[in-house]
Amino acid sequence: MAKLGGVTIFCANSIDLIGNTPLVRLSGPSAAAGAEIFGKCEYTNPGASIKDRAALYIVRDAEERGLLHPGGTIVEGTAGNTGIGLALVGNALGYKTIIVMPDTQSREKMDTLRALGAELVLVPPAPFANPGHFVHTSRRIAEETAGAVWANQFDNIANRRAHVCTTAAEIWDQMGGRIDGFTCAAGTGGTIAGVGMGLKERDANVTIALTDPHGAALYNHYAHGELRAEGSSVAEGIGQSRITANLDGAPIDTQFRISDADGDYWVRRLLDEEGLCLGLSSGINVAGAVALAQQLGKGSRIVTILADTGFRYLSSLFNEEWRAAKGFAPLRVANADRAA
Ligand code: PMP
Repeated sequence: MAKLGGVTIFCANSIDLIGNTPLVRLSGPSAAAGAEIFGKCEYTNPGASIKDRAALYIVRDAEERGLLHPGGTIVEGTAGNTGIGLALVGNALGYKTIIVMPDTQSREKMDTLRALGAELVLVPPAPFANPGHFVHTSRRIAEETAGAVWANQFDNIANRRAHVCTTAAEIWDQMGGRIDGFTCAAGTGGTIAGVGMGLKERDANVTIALTDPHGAALYNHYAHGELRAEGSSVAEGIGQSRITANLDGAPIDTQFRISDADGDYWVRRLLDEEGLCLGLSSGINVAGAVALAQQLGKGSRIVTILADTGFRYLSSLFNEEWRAAKGFAPLRVANADRAA
């Protein structure tokens, strides 16, 4: 990265575009909680999600361990964003990608993966114990493909290392070392564990809170020591039923469970009031940040993750027919409320 007086003039290559994302103060959530709530704008990564960071660290780790050679293939099972990150890193570094994804994920993610040239394998959703689950399918394809490496984002801790080394370090610097709490939801758990570890290294008093969607088992695990899921969620990329290697040892102090409706409330308000178009996991994270701020008290300084762009969900979360079919309130209610 070339810098002039602290300003980045250009990046030496496209890989350097990953990370160094801005932090934005979120006015509505801050006012609602009487706190200072900041969002880390991970949708400004080249693949428009936080998963570019994990993708880059996983690929570099495979190279360093001698598992990936020029012209080789990266195989992964993903809700989509990791696949997009791996495909763009693969294109930039000369690797092919095969991406296995549940067929329930957004149309935009599938189109983006195809546009990037990834080979896309769609499978029906299945429980983790089923051999047809997208993670197991991707492992089998990697084993059967010559010159292929399995990214294994759930249990490959190069994923969380990306967040210890980059995301946490950036948040600490951007907050000037004054941060009371951090929260986000878990898919692989790489973000919550890695940012949590990185922040605790710098200040053991930072509260790390898991924000769990309905349908995931982690809330009950951290609250009651029992991996048990309740309810359901249509949020993509989050919701975990087991302690992945990335989650193992995560320094989680407290936890919240947030419904899709409560996450969607912030998706709509951030869109209408602040012009931020975000996916549902980001809305759930912001609802968690408001809950954490309420717990930590007036004036507390909280950071959460704006994990991916809402443009990835134009045919779902931002489509009125889809919303009505899924039981979501109409998108434009927030505007109507404001006019009233
Ligand atoms: N939000 C979205 C939109 C995602 O795609 C992911 C990654 N699966 C996450 C949040 C969760 O990130 P992590 O895998 O680091 O837990």
